[in-house]
Amino acid sequence: MSPLPKRIDNHDIETRTGTSGLARGKITSSMNKRTASLLSCVLLIVMAAPVLAQVRDPLPVPDIRGYRTLKCDFHIHTVFSDGQVWPPARVVEAWRDGLDAVAITDHSGGGRNKEILKNDLNLPHALARPTADQLGMLLVPGVEVAQGLTHCNALFIKDANEVSGMQVLPALRKLRAQGAYLFWNHPGWRRPAIWYPDIDAAYNEKLIDGFEIVNGSEIYPDTQTWSEEKKLALFANSDMHATMEPQDARTRRPITLVFVRTADLAGLREALDARRTVAWYRDDVWGAEDFLRGLWQGAVKVEPGRLAFSQQVRRSGIRIANTSAIPFQVKVKSAPAWLSLNAGTLPGQRVVSVPVSAAKDAPAGEHRVEVVLEVANLHTAPGKPLTATLPLTVTVE
Ligand SMILES: [Zn+2]
Ligand SMILES: [Zn+2]
Repeated sequence: MSPLPKRIDNHDIETRTGTSGLARGKITSSMNKRTASLLSCVLLIVMAAPVLAQVRDPLPVPDIRGYRTLKCDFHIHTVFSDGQVWPPARVVEAWRDGLDAVAITDHSGGGRNKEILKNDLNLPHALARPTADQLGMLLVPGVEVAQGLTHCNALFIKDANEVSGMQVLPALRKLRAQGAYLFWNHPGWRRPAIWYPDIDAAYNEKLIDGFEIVNGSEIYPDTQTWSEEKKLALFANSDMHATMEPQDARTRRPITLVFVRTADLAGLREALDARRTVAWYRDDVWGAEDFLRGLWQGAVKVEPGRLAFSQQVRRSGIRIANTSAIPFQVKVKSAPAWLSLNAGTLPGQRVVSVPVSAAKDAPAGEHRVEVVLEVANLHTAPGKPLTATLPLTVTVE
């Protein structure tokens, strides 16, 4: 069972390269070498094009404060439990969506396909591994354990078969003994998102390191307070079972942003243990204030920083560039009464022109102005959006 028909495709490219090489031999007699090699490149690209079907979304997100930002999905299912997709295809989907790391977390209870899939819970990870290596994706070994509505994921596991069919609490103990990282899945799935006694019992045994504030299309915004109260990491994961359609800004999957020192599995683990994560789902990001500020500062560039007004010219403007794929919904909270500007949404990877005008009674001279902005979709706590300042130097003649 070869995971991908990629090898056949590669062989295909080689055969076609041979053909273009032959073409080049004939052409060289009447053309210079540079033109001929250019033509052969074009031929190669044109002929190889159908093979290069997967295209990656760059999905830019800034690094912050010396950390690299990794885009991750730590909750994905395959045919090895109740998903519909073969494991390597999950890695391809995530690579295409611009992600850096994924975990395949099939249910430890196995699934509908155990008879044909040998009932080996480590197999989905093993099958996905060569594709992850080929695409440069980090693949974290994982499993989902479930009991009624209480489900938890374990990452960095050694052997999923050790917890096959187990109840949640004994499974978490076993997985912790393997050195696993443990988080609570979808706290509000089919019930209110509150802190349940069975989770409290696991937490008191130090068997809960984080929780999903976003699972699939479900968001549990009020749970964000647990992050600080209980010192837990935030996650936004897809929990995808069906096929993943190509993504855009409106259909993008939930993504956990992890701020790592090194972009490898050890770096990922260190960052999760240190709770350096934020949860991103389409227009919204939930996380600690300094991480959100880091994202904002890394993504937003304002030009020019200096504006001049005269008696004749009272209107000018600034341009705000958002270099990231995360949109920002901006409101002006405070500015000098004589200065007027209105911000709005800064879509991902766009530049927005913002008119700025000075009132007739604007005081003459050079002023260092701090416009205070509220970024409504960056949530530092429930009902508490990030505030940011926009420094401007304004000269009034
Ligand atoms: Zn679940
Ligand atoms: Zn799941």
